[in-house]
Amino acid sequence: MRIALAGNPNSGKTTLFNAITGKIEHVGNWPGVTVAKKEGDVKSDLTKSGNKIRVVDLPGAYSLSPFTSEESITSDFVKSADADVIINIVDATNLNRSLMFTTQLLELGLPVVVALNKVDLIEKKGISIDEKDLSLKLGCPVVKTSSIKGHGLQSLVDKAVSLKGGLQKAPYTGKSITEVTEKQEADDSDRERFAFVDKIVKEVESRNTESKKQTKHDSIDRIVAHKIWGIPIFAAIIYIVFSISQTYLGPLLADSLVGWIDSVYAYADGLMGETVSPILKTLLLDGIIGGVGAVVGFLPLIMVLFFLLALLEDSGYMARVAIVMDRHLKKVGLSGKSIIPMVIGTGCAIPGVMATRTIRDDRQRRTTAMLTPFMPCGAKLPVIALFAGVFFQDAAWVGTSMYFVAIAIVIFGALIVQRITKEGPSRGYFIMELPEYRIPSIKRAFISMFSRAKAFIIKAATIILLCNVAVQIMQSYSWGFHLVEEGMEGTSILASIASPFAWLLIPLGFGAWQLAAAAITGFIAKENVVGTLAVVYSISNFIDPEELSLVSGANDVASIMGLTSVAALSYLVFNLFTPPCFAAIGAMNAEMDSRKWLWAGIGFQFGMGYTVSYFVYQLGTLITTGSFGAGAFPGLIAVGIYFGILIYLMRRNESEVSMSMGGAA
Ligand code: GDP
Repeated sequence: MRIALAGNPNSGKTTLFNAITGKIEHVGNWPGVTVAKKEGDVKSDLTKSGNKIRVVDLPGAYSLSPFTSEESITSDFVKSADADVIINIVDATNLNRSLMFTTQLLELGLPVVVALNKVDLIEKKGISIDEKDLSLKLGCPVVKTSSIKGHGLQSLVDKAVSLKGGLQKAPYTGKSITEVTEKQEADDSDRERFAFVDKIVKEVESRNTESKKQTKHDSIDRIVAHKIWGIPIFAAIIYIVFSISQTYLGPLLADSLVGWIDSVYAYADGLMGETVSPILKTLLLDGIIGGVGAVVGFLPLIMVLFFLLALLEDSGYMARVAIVMDRHLKKVGLSGKSIIPMVIGTGCAIPGVMATRTIRDDRQRRTTAMLTPFMPCGAKLPVIALFAGVFFQDAAWVGTSMYFVAIAIVIFGALIVQRITKEGPSRGYFIMELPEYRIPSIKRAFISMFSRAKAFIIKAATIILLCNVAVQIMQSYSWGFHLVEEGMEGTSILASIASPFAWLLIPLGFGAWQLAAAAITGFIAKENVVGTLAVVYSISNFIDPEELSLVSGANDVASIMGLTSVAALSYLVFNLFTPPCFAAIGAMNAEMDSRKWLWAGIGFQFGMGYTVSYFVYQLGTLITTGSFGAGAFPGLIAVGIYFGILIYLMRRNESEVSMSMGGAA
């Protein structure tokens, strides 16, 4: 038998899905996280008969007359009657809006059970709902649940099973099902439905006057979600998060992991002894154990960071950040909804870009898909951690400022697109419901952290490993497949591929082929920057177990790379703000659905990364040494060409618009 879960965004579908199937899908504390349907089987202890029950979790929807593509997934699925029973998750704290959707489901005539969810919350808020009365009025069973606490799940599943094969009648019109379905899209029926829902809610729900707690939350919001104060508060919180994960707790935990990687290295070294050919030995030791180990060494730092971010999200704080940013994004023509992909993008750009699917307007969706990859994602964190640790003793401000540079680029990028396409500020409205503040759950944060850590390890063991092997081989051989001798590294395949690019990077302060090679492999996956640097400079790990500092002999590594701290910052910025990775570009391609936009987006990302990096290096060098760095003039030409193109595009459109208007007059 098949059960479909359907309901408004943020009603708790994913949490319920996880609770009854035992899976661990990501639960986001804001709407729009589930954009595709997911399937799983009901846990055996909930299925009494022992029969298999398949559950399909559908994307959130407000309506069966779909506005967005994920709403149409839900609508199509429900209408095709692919499910035996529908469990409609209703957010009990928002009965009015949720029941609008419920009545539409009931009109289809399919068996529906209403899961009146989040009952734990309404009790706290002093709301009570008479579910028996509600059930009578809707004409379908209603079960109170709290998916977060696991209450009511057994009776929910039992009810759903008992309904299989049944049919239902549209409750409030008494008309036959087909009649109602045909006219479902008409406005009349919406008005009718609204009146019906309003009446029901008045009868079944009773609210105590505003509780004290509610007013307390409001006053917290007045500060935290304030249009001006909200930003420094966010900066301070991110700073604390980075301090804990990169300066204090993270390195402490990394200590033992790095020690362990070191012993694997030594063990493998001893095992191979003199019997194995030196090239194979280098490949295994430096390419695989060293390269992958250098990336994996950062895992504890990243896990701590993900853990803290999950706590912030779960507490309800991240939704406030979305509200603060929303105001600014709307002014530059983005949708208020753009903020969700960007917050998700701080985990990984791929789901972030996929979440742009919830944006109806093509231009806004494409612009958001183009700008989301600027956010510092999980894969960029090892790169940030490495550079913050090697070149800047106090790591926390580096990471924090990278978030804010990303936000600045997003706003700038949106402005440019707005000017090129000649659109005004966003008129669309976006109502984001603020989730309640709550004590974040340690368990949920752990689950989120481990699932991301798992993804990180899988990536390190596959893509990163393969790239490191390739880099090691290309570095060891010349084009004629002769082993490169010591001191002749510049003749290797890798050096000859990377050198022309290195030349382009001189104005940014890092013209060495090794650094260019790491930046290139970084386009495959960002973690590669760290892995490749480890391989090309033969540094087996970047974290010093003895000194508990982030990087082994910080100054050694810095001097091997031969970068000033200004150039290092420039290199970091270049890696963070040029296109993220192949997979994210693939996601951009899918969501933009336009070749023109895709190439323009990639071009914009390259130009932006180059420009920011150029200014960081040249201005930084000017400030620290009193004169510009190498290649200032050619770099200026490159940056000038980039801006020239942007300005041309903004102007060209203007003249086209005025020409076509003149033609019409
Ligand atoms: P979806 O968008 O419908 O899939 O909703 P999610 O499962 O992602 O949940 C949205 C938010 O509501 C998350 O912050 C959940 O932790 C929270 N939530 C879900 N179910 C409950 C519940 O029964 N009680 C409370 N208090 N919160 C819940």
